[in-house]
Amino acid sequence: MTPVSTFSGKKVALVGLGGSGLATAQALAEGGAIVTVWDDKEASRAKAVTIGVTVEDLRDADWSEFSALVLAPGIPLTHPTPHWSVEKAKDAGIEIIGDIELFCRERAARAPHAPFIAITGTNGKSTTTALIAHILRDAGMDVQLGGNIGTPILSLEPPSDERFHVIECSSFQIDLTPSINPTVGILINLSADHLDRHGTMENYAASKERLVRQSDIAFVGVDDRMSSDIGRRLNEVLSDKRHVFPVSVKRALERGVYLDGTRIVSNAGAEQTLGDIAGIRTLRGAHNAQNAVFAAAAVSMWTFPASAIQSGLSSFPGLAHRMEEVGRIDKAIFINDSKATNADATEKALLSFDDIYWILGGTQKEGGIASLEPLFGKIRKAYLIGASAEDFAKTLEGKAPYALCGTLEVAVTAAAADSLESDLREPAVLLSPACASYDQYPNFEVRGDSFRDLVKALVAKYHLP
Ligand code: ADP
Repeated sequence: MTPVSTFSGKKVALVGLGGSGLATAQALAEGGAIVTVWDDKEASRAKAVTIGVTVEDLRDADWSEFSALVLAPGIPLTHPTPHWSVEKAKDAGIEIIGDIELFCRERAARAPHAPFIAITGTNGKSTTTALIAHILRDAGMDVQLGGNIGTPILSLEPPSDERFHVIECSSFQIDLTPSINPTVGILINLSADHLDRHGTMENYAASKERLVRQSDIAFVGVDDRMSSDIGRRLNEVLSDKRHVFPVSVKRALERGVYLDGTRIVSNAGAEQTLGDIAGIRTLRGAHNAQNAVFAAAAVSMWTFPASAIQSGLSSFPGLAHRMEEVGRIDKAIFINDSKATNADATEKALLSFDDIYWILGGTQKEGGIASLEPLFGKIRKAYLIGASAEDFAKTLEGKAPYALCGTLEVAVTAAAADSLESDLREPAVLLSPACASYDQYPNFEVRGDSFRDLVKALVAKYHLP
């Protein structure tokens, strides 16, 4: 844990006890703050009783006593409407901050040069964060990995000069972190997302921009218009003390980091190869190439043996449910992409394979799978499950063969049999549902785990003597 000493002896209000809230309350209390917590849900409040902080309905509290409101990132700060606690804090004139801000202040007080890598973007945050942490660990570094990706930041070990913090930041978290100042900040890409919570695209982009604007060294994607505008703007306004490097997977750059075929090239006057992603199965697809280029760029800011980046890239185990290879029978590979809950995410998977036995369906999103039609030529057969089956059948009619399977179990069995009968070189049985899972599963993780179990059972059966 990282005890928060910067509020020692002060009263702090904390709202939102799901996820990171409890860890934050504990870290504040451990550092000597007097913490009063609240959550609108009773079940969440019950958990707080066990950690020795005061649980009190803050609607009735005297807010002039508090030094700050510490807010969970899931609670609306501005849109659609500010949470009542935000209004109370504003009326009392106190600051509203989150757990990453508390970490940043602790770092500034305790170890201002502690290596801190912060990653944001619309897509690829978790993969890039995990890959950076993996490369550093593989090189023997002490690495703390967390933030939006899982472990709350204040549950991690405290910052020190010898210890890396690799932290995924959502835009909601950045909104609550005014003094964010990572050693290396990354903005991978930017497209419309979460506008219900940010109001406008400008607000969303401004939040992402602040992370890289305040970084000592920033890497900013230039392959989409919005993040490349940010990169250009930063280069115009920042002083010599801050450095902004553009990153591209689409074109060579005179100054910056880019992909040349499968080679990751850094160009800061002289060209240097940072690594090569050829044949790395956990980094398949153009989207993962982008994540790999950012990861290599970030770690190249520290000095390692030349081979360390390549070694880390090559041994990356990948993340569960994101184009995760879960088995192989004969020449067929089985891929779990259960995290793909919309057509945009599924597009990335369809682009990454040539001959696809595609398992899809569930609770569909607006637009369904119509946008994927240009890729239907790769579909050897589609296996439809869940509530969207009839609608998706209509979209596929006459464009790709399909079967109505109902359940994942039926679909996996049928797709495996068909792929093994084919004379294709490397058919892919791909679960990439383009749908949420809620009609048949509690969440995408359970759906992906279930796919993995079904494939494991098939693999075992196939290998029986
Ligand atoms: P995030 O943490 O930003 O949600 P993840 O790394 O968890 O991103 O990847 C989630 C999904 O987003 C992947 O399954 C893939 O479909 C897509 N994706 C991953 N990286 C990228 C990228 N660089 N650009 C576009 N889409 C991506």
